Amino acid sequence: MDDYEKMLDRARAALPEKTLAFERFETPQLESFLQGSKTLVRNFDVILQKIRRPPEILAKYFSRELAVPVTIQGGKLVLNGKFYTKNLQDKLQAFVDAAVVCKECKRPDTKIIEKDGVKTLVCEACGARAPVRI
Ligand SMILES: [Zn+2]
Repeated sequence: MDDYEKMLDRARAALPEKTLAFERFETPQLESFLQGSKTLVRNFDVILQKIRRPPEILAKYFSRELAVPVTIQGGKLVLNGKFYTKNLQDKLQAFVDAAVVCKECKRPDTKIIEKDGVKTLVCEACGARAPVRI
């Protein structure tokens, strides 16, 4: 067995067990491409379905995080600037961590309640509540 194979073996051994009681929520893979000086998120609508959030909240988040105007066109998010998919994926991951996945049970069965300008993430699975800072 050569070193490369040994390395692969170690990598396999380090993978988490697949027999956990439930699968940790997987952040959807974002697909984007450049069009002139703009970046389009091709599967914005699919992402929204998976994370169960209205388009405005995620569009606003990207706009604020990237400091560019955004629009939604035909299920796609249009960012007024050039961005790498990796960069956008990192932002999406941060959004999911902050505003989708429950801090206590790690499930995505949550909703955001807004009262007096304060957003709270409420878990429908375990009942946990946490302030949302996005
Ligand atoms: Zn929970």
